[in-house]
Amino acid sequence: MNKGIVYLVGAGPGDPDLLTIKADKIIKKADVIVYDRLLAKKIIETFPINAEKIYVGKESGTHIVPQDQISEILIKKANEGKTVVRLKGGDPFLFGRGGEEAIELKKVGIKFVIVPGITSALAVPAYAGIPVTHRHYASSVTFVTGHEESDKKRDTVNWEKLATATDTLVILMGVKRMKIITDAIIKGGRDRKTPAAAIEWGTTKNQRIVEGVLEDIADKIVLNNVKSPALIIIGEVVKMRKMLSWFGEEN
Ligand code: SAH
Repeated sequence: MNKGIVYLVGAGPGDPDLLTIKADKIIKKADVIVYDRLLAKKIIETFPINAEKIYVGKESGTHIVPQDQISEILIKKANEGKTVVRLKGGDPFLFGRGGEEAIELKKVGIKFVIVPGITSALAVPAYAGIPVTHRHYASSVTFVTGHEESDKKRDTVNWEKLATATDTLVILMGVKRMKIITDAIIKGGRDRKTPAAAIEWGTTKNQRIVEGVLEDIADKIVLNNVKSPALIIIGEVVKMRKMLSWFGEEN
């Protein structure tokens, strides 16, 4: 029997219309779809009726299916000769563990294809009216995770160095640790009045934005009960929101 194939596919940031045409085509020919939390209902509704749907998402921080088992599922189904779609939020290679899953497939000789997706790291700021770079305000942008594996003894992100090494910081998975993070960035020499924003459920109809500055954004996140999925942007570009906010204008 021929071995199957695994497509590691990005599903986009939340707005279902931001799914790529390539992702849509691949979903339509899937025998098996392995998918995560945060996937728009509208996308789930396009899954072929006959496809086997396997939900492996996270609930309150813990994967209901551990990472090694996800890879096992992909391998098992591909070995049965199936076309397997592993559908992930945003882009599979940006904090999506797509690299880890691809390596497991490679090790056992299963063919795979990577289908990039529109990442929340870019689309969520865009929907909030924040360009992550701007000729006058920001020539660099850094995407960084605020979450660290509990088995790592200390933070592997050097926040103090990053503080002044990049213009715009886009922090994913960071809502719970914002106080520690912003304190470190201030300690690293970034102006405490640098504009900052937290965006919850960006690109979806539940999009919510809390604005502040570096020294108070962590408190505002707590005060306004901002929860995952949310990302935080720190940098001068945040102030452009005043002029560029457009959400809700679309017909
Ligand atoms: N691979 C994904 C990111 C996975 S990490 C991508 O490219 O988008 C998950 C984190 O992404 C969340 O904790 C949050 O910080 C961010 N995120 C994903 N969707 C989001 C959304 N709709 N609004 C705000 N942040 C989002």
